This record gives sequence, structure tokens and C-alpha cells, in this order.
Amino acid sequence: MSEIVYCLGSSLYLNITNRCTNRCVFCIKNFTDQVGNKRLVLDREPSSKEIIGSLNKIDLRTYKEVVFCGFGEPLIRVEVVKSVSRFIKDMFPHLPIRIDTNGHGNVFNQRNILPEIAPYIDAISISLNAEDKEKYDKISRPVFSDAYNAVIEFIKLSKIYIKDVAASVVNLPTVDIERCEKIAKDLGVKFKVREFVKSL
Ligand code: SF4
Repeated sequence: MSEIVYCLGSSLYLNITNRCTNRCVFCIKNFTDQVGNKRLVLDREPSSKEIIGSLNKIDLRTYKEVVFCGFGEPLIRVEVVKSVSRFIKDMFPHLPIRIDTNGHGNVFNQRNILPEIAPYIDAISISLNAEDKEKYDKISRPVFSDAYNAVIEFIKLSKIYIKDVAASVVNLPTVDIERCEKIAKDLGVKFKVREFVKSL
């Protein structure tokens, strides 16, 4: 059975879609269909009601944060992100909520979604992935053109709406980590380097 909710350390993760507008060479989906003993390949996408039903079976007070990050891009389902986040904040206003995103949300939703999610989202981690467009296209293999500039714009806009913004890269040998760190610094956001892993 596929899992909607899984935990890593003291964080609770929500796996709400497997769809994505990137096809990253490092994506864990390329190597496994599970995290730990949880199968994250979804047979179908869960509704908000089903996600909330799963959350109701868990004591959320035992987690330090809830993270939208599964085997896909959560902001493809922005309405679900909003309704589930609203439920969490109504129940536990002090429990931080983070989104890990590819930063394409404003492109595929065809509007600026940041004001809509900002009331519920405390932190956002945006995959920068590379120091320039050419390398980004090779690593992330986005399904639309000019995705790199869309990511940079999304990082800039996120700063206006969300308190805690980070740009992230995976430590592939081809990525110039120093240049990526400078881009994040110039954009005024935190910088995170993630390990390349084929399993968790
Ligand atoms: S953006 Fe995330 S989910 Fe999408 S392909 Fe890349 S690593 Fe996988």
C-alpha cells in the first residue's frame, strides 16, 4: 500500500502527488519506490479529506514540523496544500509547516500562488539545483522552457511572502556549489546543500 504520511527524524512528511514538472537526474524516484519501509509511489492521489483523515490518526504534537515533500511537486496540488495546511494550523497554530518545491508553482498554476499559501506556510525550500540555466536544464530536465529563470523569480517573490526561504542544491560533482551559494546569498535567502542519495 502506498503511504500519504511518513516520518523522517522528527519531521512528518506529506506525500500528496507523484507528478512533477522536473525529471531530475538525482530524483530518488529514479532509484527506489520507497523511503524507509514506506512505499511512496501513489496508486492514486489522495483527497484533502483522506490526508486529513491520516493526520487525525497521528499525534502531531510529537513532531517539530510538517513538510509537504513526497515523490512529486506538492504545489501542483496547491488547493490541497492550502486546505490541509489550514486544518493543521487550526489544530496546532504553532506547528511549523514547510514546503519543499521545485519553484515552478507560479508557472503551472498560471498565477502568483504565494499570497494564497503564505498564511499557512512558515518555510519554503526551493530547488535551485544549478548555477546557470544550461546546467539546470541538464540536471533537472524541466518539462517547459526557461524554468531556471522561473525558479529565480519564485525565490525572489517567496521572500516577500514567506519568513523562512532557502534555495537548495544537491551535491552532484557537476554542480558549482560555491556559485550556487553566491546566487542564494545575492537573492538574500538561506542556502542548503543536500546529499545525493539513492535511498533513505
Ligand atoms: S523536483 Fe523533486 S520530485 Fe521533481 S523530479 Fe526533481 S527531485 Fe524529483
